[in-house]
Amino acid sequence: MTKLATYEIDIVKSNTSKLETVDFENLVFGRTFTDHMFYCDYKDGQWQQPKIVPYGPMTFEPSARVFHYGQAVFEGMKAYKDEDGNAFLFRPEENYERINKSAARLAIPEFPKEYFFEGLTTILNMDKDWIKSGKGNSLYIRPFVIATEPAISASPALTYRFMIICSPAKAYYTGGVRVLFAEKYSRSANGGVGFAKAAGNYAAQFYPTSLAQAKGFQQIIWTDANTHENLEEAGTMNIFFRVNDTLITAPTSDRILDGVTRKSVIQLAKDSDVKVEVRPVSVKEIKEAARNDSLKEIFGAGTAAVISPISAFEHGGDIFELELKSDSYAAFFKEKMLNIQHNLAEDPHGWRYKI
Ligand SMILES: *Cc1c(COP(=O)(O)O)cnc(C)c1O
Repeated sequence: MTKLATYEIDIVKSNTSKLETVDFENLVFGRTFTDHMFYCDYKDGQWQQPKIVPYGPMTFEPSARVFHYGQAVFEGMKAYKDEDGNAFLFRPEENYERINKSAARLAIPEFPKEYFFEGLTTILNMDKDWIKSGKGNSLYIRPFVIATEPAISASPALTYRFMIICSPAKAYYTGGVRVLFAEKYSRSANGGVGFAKAAGNYAAQFYPTSLAQAKGFQQIIWTDANTHENLEEAGTMNIFFRVNDTLITAPTSDRILDGVTRKSVIQLAKDSDVKVEVRPVSVKEIKEAARNDSLKEIFGAGTAAVISPISAFEHGGDIFELELKSDSYAAFFKEKMLNIQHNLAEDPHGWRYKI
C-alpha cells in the first residue's frame, strides 16, 4: 500500500445545492445524487491527492480499460440519522475491508484506509443535510474503483480512479419478492469472483433475470454452478430459510458474497436465542420443507433493502407460495437492524460509527 504523506483533501465546494429540488417522499432508488463526489486517482504506483468536487460528469478516453475488460469493483453502504441529527454509518470497516478484498481479486491496488475514512466522513459532513432522519430513510453510499488507463491490451491497468458518490434512499415496502431457483445459469464458480463486488458479476445476471421476470419472478436464487443442487444467494442479497424455528443460511465461500447484513442477522439471531445453522442448503430439502409445511419463511438480506421477504419460489415447474406474516423473523430482524442503525436501540456490538 503506497500513499502520499498528506491526508488533506482538496475541496471544491458546489456553489448551489440541489437539495431543495429533490422530492424526498418519492425517491426512486439510485437516481438522485448529492451535491458532491469524492475521488482519488492512482498513478505512478501511488494514490494521489484525494479530492471532493461538485457531483457531475467526468471524461475518460474511450480506451480506458474499464470499458473493455470490466476491471471495476464497488461497495454499498448507508448513512443514517437519528432524531437529534446525529449521523451514523453501520459497520463501515467491513466495507473498507471488502472493497480491498474485491480489488485484490481484480488486480486493483489497495486503497489506503485513512483516505477511505477521511473521504467518507468529509463528504458526508458536506452533504449531511441529504441524510434524512426517520426510520427507513438513509443515504446510500457507493464507493467504487475503475481502471482508467487508456490502453486496450488485456492486462491490469496502471491507472485507476477511486470514487464515492451518495444517493438519498427510502426503504419502501415492496411486498414479497417472487423468485426462481436457478437450474441452468450460474452467477459464480469455484475459484471465480463471486465473493467480490466485481462489476461484471451484476451485468452477467441481467439476462437470466430478465428471463425470470418474463415468467413473473423478480429475482433468481442462485444455486451452485456444478450441480445446481444447493441454494447460495440472490443477486444482491444473501438468503435465509426458516424451517420450523431454525434459520438456515449457506456458508460463505469464493462463490458467495460475505454480506454485512447477513453476518449482522446471524449475530442478532444468536443474541435473540434463535437457532441458526450455517451450512449448505439443498433445493431438495427446501422443497420438502415447503411440502410438509415446515418451511415458514425465506428472506433476502442486504444493505439496500435490509430484509426482503420472499413470497413464492419456483423450481422444476413447481411453484410454492409462502404466506407473509407480521410476526415473521423477517420483520423481527428488520426492526432490530433499523433500530440499531437509527440509534433507537442499544448497540452491544459497536456497529454504529458516528460521523
Ligand atoms: C452486496 C451484496 C450482498 C449483500 O451484502 P451487504 O453487505 O449485506 O449489503 C449480497 N450478495 C451480493 C452478490 C452482493 O453484491
